[in-house]
Amino acid sequence: MRSSKPGIPVRTRQPAGAGARRTRVQVAVAAGVAVAASLAGVGGALAADTTPGTGPGTTQSATPSRSAGPQQHVEYFTSPDSHPRHTEVPAPARLNARQRSAIAGDGKVVSLVKNGPVGAKADVVFIGDGYTKSQQDDFLTDVRRKWKEVSAVEPYRTYKKQFNVWAIEAVSPQSGVGGDPDYGTSKRTALGSSFWCDNVERLLCVNHEKVEAYASKAADADLVIVLANSTKYGGAGYNDIVSPSGYDGIATASSDNPDSSQIVVHETGHSLGKLADEYWYDEYGTYDGAEPWESNISKLKSAQLTAQKKKWYRWIGQTSPDGGKVGAYRGGGYYPRGIYRPTQNSIMRTLGNEFNLPGREAMIAGFHRHSSVISATTPTSTKVRRTKVVTVEAGKGVQLRWYVDGRVTDKGRDDASMTPRALGVPADGRAHTVSVRGTDPTKAVRDPALRKLLTKKLTWRVAS
Ligand SMILES: [Zn+2]
Repeated sequence: MRSSKPGIPVRTRQPAGAGARRTRVQVAVAAGVAVAASLAGVGGALAADTTPGTGPGTTQSATPSRSAGPQQHVEYFTSPDSHPRHTEVPAPARLNARQRSAIAGDGKVVSLVKNGPVGAKADVVFIGDGYTKSQQDDFLTDVRRKWKEVSAVEPYRTYKKQFNVWAIEAVSPQSGVGGDPDYGTSKRTALGSSFWCDNVERLLCVNHEKVEAYASKAADADLVIVLANSTKYGGAGYNDIVSPSGYDGIATASSDNPDSSQIVVHETGHSLGKLADEYWYDEYGTYDGAEPWESNISKLKSAQLTAQKKKWYRWIGQTSPDGGKVGAYRGGGYYPRGIYRPTQNSIMRTLGNEFNLPGREAMIAGFHRHSSVISATTPTSTKVRRTKVVTVEAGKGVQLRWYVDGRVTDKGRDDASMTPRALGVPADGRAHTVSVRGTDPTKAVRDPALRKLLTKKLTWRVAS
């Protein structure tokens, strides 16, 4: 149903197969003002944030009125403790030669946090928008603060060391972004960010073709966050974008609003955790499609999950960090009926809350799809001398076991630096290998298939 746009392939996410229903949402959105009321359906605590109009009159980032052209699925948030919502906005056109060349000459890449090699860490790339040439230091300060806020949330906090953080300095002609402070404000910026996207004040859209052009400058972007230079609350999630550069999805957030960090965390629930939304729209009615692919929603009730050993059954009955016990609560994946979610109110339903236990498990697994529990400080590509120290970098609590010629030894247990000699490699002129296996023993990941992501073995050849 969702139309793709040229340039960046769009993955068909199938959140409970909402195709036909989405058409109704689009119609509702097109109808304008009534949208907040008609879509809320999730407790009624939502402030209607839509206002009639045709979008901010920005030259670069205006949200055109709805047309039949390609659409882009986005998720947005009306207030810091709200349930998210989603809608479709017009997709940007493919960049022309002049735009490409402007970006080619811009976008200095700065390393802000380096915990290990690019291949062994999850690389978070922040791109600034609405920062002029003289404001790039402010941008770097804002990135540091935003990452501090994001990485204060579990399970980021525990796994902070699994990430590298990069900043890409995009120089904007003007300071600030469209739609800030008010509807009519227009700004010329590097990435075309603007509030009031689709007539929704807090929906902070960006030209994701430009995001891709900037993000491709990073060595390996696993997660892309666009920071708009603003104190105004807002952001967005572009979760069906699969980038040629390797990242899944884009999150946007305002730089100087602490609550906007929650938007980023929620969006990474989709991009890194592959989690479904746990909210719903009343008008979606009863779900009658196939079992959803996401790990945190299901057609099955608690007893069925347990009996069939499906989805989050290993967590049922456990007390969850977002409150209450894990079970199967009615509503999720946009449907109020016919779909169940693991807990009452996780961050995948309401901002400001924690991930639930199945969500944490999925996030930790996601972190490790882009990073390893250990990385080689001594390169594995070159032979090591028998008397020379071999060193690995390991996350906190990671258990280390060493091997000689493929056989495990008790020597050097949990030691990150060892010599082949101390491990028992003989000086017999023969070829030998030493290896080390790192395993994260966390109890937060129970699924054996995911636990495999939490172990890594490195091997060195020892010079004879
Ligand atoms: Zn979401």
